[in-house]
Amino acid sequence: MLEKMDKNFVLPTYARNYVNFVKGSNARLKDSEGNSYVDFTAGIGVVSVGHANKRVSEVICEQVKRITHISNLYLIEPQARLAEKLVTLSGYDMQIFFSNSGAEANEGAIKIARKYGEVEGQPKRYKVITLEHSFHGRTISTLKATGQESMHNYFGPFPDGFVYATNIDAIEGMIDDHTVAVMIELVQGEGGVEPQDKEKVQALAKMLKKRDILLIVDEVQTGIYRTGELFASNLYEIEPDIITVAKGLGGGVPIGAVMSAKKDVLKAGDHGSTYGGNYLVTAAANEVLDILEGEKNSGALDAIMIAFERHVEKLAEAYPKIVTKSVGLGLMRGLRICDADTLNKILEASFKEGLLVLKAGRNTLRFLPPLTISKKEIEDGFEKLNRVFAAL
Ligand SMILES: *Cc1c(COP(=O)(O)O)cnc(C)c1O
Repeated sequence: MLEKMDKNFVLPTYARNYVNFVKGSNARLKDSEGNSYVDFTAGIGVVSVGHANKRVSEVICEQVKRITHISNLYLIEPQARLAEKLVTLSGYDMQIFFSNSGAEANEGAIKIARKYGEVEGQPKRYKVITLEHSFHGRTISTLKATGQESMHNYFGPFPDGFVYATNIDAIEGMIDDHTVAVMIELVQGEGGVEPQDKEKVQALAKMLKKRDILLIVDEVQTGIYRTGELFASNLYEIEPDIITVAKGLGGGVPIGAVMSAKKDVLKAGDHGSTYGGNYLVTAAANEVLDILEGEKNSGALDAIMIAFERHVEKLAEAYPKIVTKSVGLGLMRGLRICDADTLNKILEASFKEGLLVLKAGRNTLRFLPPLTISKKEIEDGFEKLNRVFAAL
C-alpha cells in the first residue's frame, strides 16, 4: 500500500528498501511489523545524538511553539548563539553562513573562494583542486567538484574550474596561475572511509598558505565530533581557511554551515538563503552541540569510540579472508571487503538480522553510528554482524 504510493508518486532517484520505520530510540529502530533493528548508520551520519533524543525533541517542540521561521532579514537569536558556540568550540577565528545541506554549504565555500580569487590579484583566479574519489554534493557545481567521473555522465555543461588530483601528493603539481583553492575531505566518506595522512595534510596546509591558495575542508561528514574532535581539522591540527559542516550538526533537522576565516569576502547581497539557519534548526543544533560537548568532556565519547573500534578490529581479525583492511577514524569506520559481491551479501544479510549498515565506494562496509550509541547497542549490533559473517 505505502510502497505502491511511494512508487507511484515519488521520483525513483533512490534504490530504496521499503521497510517502514515507525519509532526510534537512540541506536534502535522499530518497523511497522514490530521488527527491531540496531542502527549503525544514524541516517548517514546525521542522527548524531540518537533517534528521538529527549533533550533535542523538547527544545524543538518549545521553539516551534514560539517561532519556527522569520527569514534572515531579521536577527535570529539561536542562530547567533550557534555561530558563537561553533566558532568558540572550534578554536578558529571564523564567521559562519548557515545553509540547509552539505552541498549548499560547499556551494557557499566555492563562492567565497571564487570571489576571493576575483578580487585579489591578477589574473583572476577561479580553479578549485579536489581529490579523486571525493564527494562534495549533488548540485551542478558540487557534482562537478566531486572527483568521480561516473557522476559527470549527464547534467552538463558543468561550470569550469574544477580539476582532480589523484592524491594529496599530486596537488602541488596541479597548481597554476588560476588556482584559488583546494577542497578536501580529511576522511573520504563516500569514497571509502580512508583517512588522509596527518603529516601530508599539514605539509599541504603550509604550502597552500605560503602560496595564498585557500584550503577548504569539507567536514560535512567528518565534522561535529564524528572523528573524536569537533572537527577532523582539529584532530589534524591544521587551520583551514574554510570549513563546511552539515550532517551531524542538527541531529536530524536539515542544517549546513560554511565557516570562513576570510570574513570580509562576501558582502550583503552576495549570498543568501531563505531557510538557512532558521529558529527551528539552530535551536536544535544548539542542543545537539551542548549534548555532544558534554559527552566529549565527560570522556563518554572517547569510551564509546574505543569500544566500537575494538569490536570492528575483532571482527576484522576473525575473518581475514573476508576483511582485507580496517579503515576509518573515531565513529566513522569501515571494513574493506574482499569483493563487491560479498559486500552486497553482507548488506542484505545484516538487514535480515536487524542491523542497519552502509556501503562506501565499491567494496567498503561503512559504520556511522550515533555518537551516543550505548555499550549494549554496540554489543547487540556486532553480535548480529558476527552471525552474518559466520554464515558467509
Ligand atoms: C553527504 C556529504 C555531502 C552532501 O551533503 P548533502 O546534505 O547531501 O547535500 C557533501 N560532502 C560530504 C563529504 C558528504 O559526506
